Amino acid sequence: MPPSRAVSSDLSITDDLLRNAGRAPARRSRNGSERDRSAQRIAPAEFHPQSAKRVAKSRVEVVRAGGWDAWPWLLHGFSTRTGGVTTAYRPAQRSGELNLGFTASDTRENVLENRRLFLEALGAPASMKLVTLKQIHSSSVRRVGRRDVAASEPCRGDGLMTSEPGVLLAIQTADCIPVLIADVKKKVVAAFHAGWRGTVNRIVENGVGKMRVAFRSRPEDLIAAIGPGIGGCCYAVGEEVRSEFASQFSYAQDLFREVSDSDPIREKYPMLFLTQRPPGHSNIGPSLHLDLMEANRRQLLDASLRAEAITVIGDCTRCQNNRYFSYRGEQGFTGRMLSVIGIRS
Ligand SMILES: [Zn+2]
Repeated sequence: MPPSRAVSSDLSITDDLLRNAGRAPARRSRNGSERDRSAQRIAPAEFHPQSAKRVAKSRVEVVRAGGWDAWPWLLHGFSTRTGGVTTAYRPAQRSGELNLGFTASDTRENVLENRRLFLEALGAPASMKLVTLKQIHSSSVRRVGRRDVAASEPCRGDGLMTSEPGVLLAIQTADCIPVLIADVKKKVVAAFHAGWRGTVNRIVENGVGKMRVAFRSRPEDLIAAIGPGIGGCCYAVGEEVRSEFASQFSYAQDLFREVSDSDPIREKYPMLFLTQRPPGHSNIGPSLHLDLMEANRRQLLDASLRAEAITVIGDCTRCQNNRYFSYRGEQGFTGRMLSVIGIRS
């Protein structure tokens, strides 16, 4: 067997190992064309802007709650990392990614282009504009409208609500839980950001209360979607988090479980990691995991929403790190997704 063939075959075995364990390997090229492309350092968009945009656009994926298209006036969606023009987080990857947050590692131009691509994939009319927040893990909910679209500084808080058409409420996350709510009778929409602190602060329960006061929304008319975020499978937290939840919620014990930490790739291929752990440290002790999606579902139920009106998308951003940005999965060096909801203008 010629040496080149042997190398290629070894790599493909490793790729298969990684793929089987749920981790996509970095792309490798057999014919060398990819290497040639990066060596030239030509950004295709500079030379063929139309074709580059078409490619990026076609790959933008929008996750939606099933059945919500029954209300044609209602526009909503959760972004993923696929599509887009960002190359900061996976430079070895051939195609760009859809970072929608103004992070330190990405350019403003990239984020604006990604937001444009996302709204296009969402099917939002050009007249619809985003309203974002400076998120602070609070229970603060803002009522906004078209006047807030042009605001130079987003206001502080973790919830947005509106009854004005043409405004797209946007929550930014990379593991935290986004929650979208619509009042399908009064045509009101709301969006919430729920990390563990916001959840302890009852951001969603408080948000439904604000909708009732501001718009006279009735809980039986509300539908809710809990979007992709870090799942109970991956969200290890400290004892202090359990104490905080226990002090706030009678059902706190239902939200936590002790998990013996495991890594599927290490379990399946222990030989790959033989030298990485000191002798005598072969097992990691159990850790405490919090199910934030369930915590927010319970808040919606406590706010009197009907169980069947609540959609839990259920995707774990860390388990599906190739599809979603995950702060924990990438040790903080990652992009941001947007979850949006609005009334068509
Ligand atoms: Zn997970």
